Amino acid sequence: MSSAFQQCIHPDCSQKYDLGQILTACPACQSLLDVAYDWDQVPVPSHLKEFEARWTDRRTPVNFSGVWRFRELISFPRDEQIVTIGEGQTILQQNDQLAKVAGLNSGSLFLQYEGLNPSGSFKDNGMTAASTHASMVGAKMTACASTGNTSASLAIYAGVSGLFQCVVFVGSGRIAYGKLSQALDYGARTLQILGDFDDALARVREVCAEHPIYLCNSVNPFRLEGQKSIMYRILEGLSWEVPDWILVPGGNLGNSSAFGKAFLELKQLGLIDRIPRLAIINAEGADTLDSLVNAESLNWNEGRSDSEMIRDFYRLMDEEDRRANTLASAIEINRPVNLVKALRSLNVCDGVVRSVSDQEIVDARARIAASGFGCEPASGASLAGLLQLREEGLIAPSDRVACVLTGHQLKDPDLTVAYHMDDPKKRAEKLQPAGVNETPFANSPVVVENSKAAIVAALGL
Ligand SMILES: *Cc1c(COP(=O)(O)O)cnc(C)c1O
Ligand SMILES: [Zn+2]
Repeated sequence: MSSAFQQCIHPDCSQKYDLGQILTACPACQSLLDVAYDWDQVPVPSHLKEFEARWTDRRTPVNFSGVWRFRELISFPRDEQIVTIGEGQTILQQNDQLAKVAGLNSGSLFLQYEGLNPSGSFKDNGMTAASTHASMVGAKMTACASTGNTSASLAIYAGVSGLFQCVVFVGSGRIAYGKLSQALDYGARTLQILGDFDDALARVREVCAEHPIYLCNSVNPFRLEGQKSIMYRILEGLSWEVPDWILVPGGNLGNSSAFGKAFLELKQLGLIDRIPRLAIINAEGADTLDSLVNAESLNWNEGRSDSEMIRDFYRLMDEEDRRANTLASAIEINRPVNLVKALRSLNVCDGVVRSVSDQEIVDARARIAASGFGCEPASGASLAGLLQLREEGLIAPSDRVACVLTGHQLKDPDLTVAYHMDDPKKRAEKLQPAGVNETPFANSPVVVENSKAAIVAALGL
C-alpha cells in the first residue's frame, strides 16, 4: 500500500487518483495534477542533514543518484522500482567573479550546474522519475515533444534502461544541434513536425490520448517530483541554510513549479524555517508569464486563477499570430503548460517574473562561460535576470543568491561560435535577426601566418 497518490490542484475539485493511472490532467476538471503524499506514513528524516549519510555510498544506485538520495521526499516508488542512470551528480559553485559583476558581496552568488547530468541538462532529474512511473505502469512506449533537451533526456533513459521504446516530436524551427544529435544517437524514433514546439506538444498529446503511449512532457506530474531534488541539492550545497533568492529561466515552467512545491513541502514538514524568494526569468521573445503576471496581474488566487484571462491572452496571441522567438531555444515557448502551478510557486515563494533580451542572454552566457563551467543560452537568462534585479534594487548586495544553470554549454555550440568568431555572415544569419548586434565578451581567434616568427609576434613575446 503506497502513501502516494495523484491529486487535482484545483481546490474546488481536489479529486484524488491512484498512482497506477496514467493521467496528464484531472479527468474531472482538466486542471493539472500533483503527486501528493500521506506524509504521516512516510519515514521522513527529522533533519535534512540525515540525507548526507548516503553521500558516501556510491555502489547502491538509489543512494548514488542525486535525485533518489532524497527519496523519502519523492516517495511514490518502492526502491526496487526506481529507474536511475546516475543523474543529479551536479555542483553548486560559489562564483565570486560574477558576484562582483552583479554587485553582490563576495561569497553570495552560487551557480547550480545542472549541465553535469548524463544528458547534459536538468531534464534528467525529472526523466528518472517519469521513467520510474512509466515502468511502474508497464509502459512499452514513451513519447515527448521537445525543444531538444527533453527528447535527449527521454532518449537516454529509454536507451540505457532498455525498458521501453521512445518517440520524440521536435518542431521544425529552432533546435540546437547538440540536442537533436543526442536524440538520434541514443536511438529515439524522431519525428520532425512541420510546426513549432507548441504544435509538436499539441500533436503528441493527441496521439498519446488515443494510443498506449506514455507521455513524458512536464504535464506529467511525476517528472516534476524528480526536479524538486535540484532545490534539495542547493540547500545541501549551502549546508542546509536557505538562500534568499533562487533564479531560474522559465519555459514550460516545470522547474518553477517543482521548486515551489519542494519548498512548500519542506516548510510543512518542518525541515526548513523559511522559504527563499523565486525569480522566474523569461526571454523577451517568449514572455507569456511576464505579460500575464506583471501586465495583467494574473495570480494564484488560492488555486482559482483567472482561466478566462489566460484563454483570452492565448486567443489574442493566435489572432495576432505572435509566436515565441528567442535564441534561447529551450525557453522559446508560447503557452507554458505548467502556468498555473508556476503561479502557485510565485505565491509560495513571494516570487517575481522578469524578461531579458536576447542580447542580455547571450552576453550573460558568455560571462558565465568565462568564469564558470559554461551553459547554454537559456541558462544565461538566470544571470541576466540577476543583473536586472540588482539594478532594480530588489536583490540586495548581501542577499545569498542561487542561479540555476539548466543546460550544458556544448548543447548549442553554433551560437557560441557565432558569438566569438565575429564572422559577418554568421552574425547576419544567427545573431542580428534576434537583435544581438554587439558581442562585448567575444574572444575571437587571432589569424596568424604559418611561421614561428609570426606566432611569437602575435603572442607579443
Ligand atoms: C527545458 C529547459 C528550460 C525550461 O525549463 P522549464 O521547466 O520548461 O521552464 C530551460 N533551460 C534549459 C536548458 C532547458 O532544457
Ligand atoms: Zn479536478
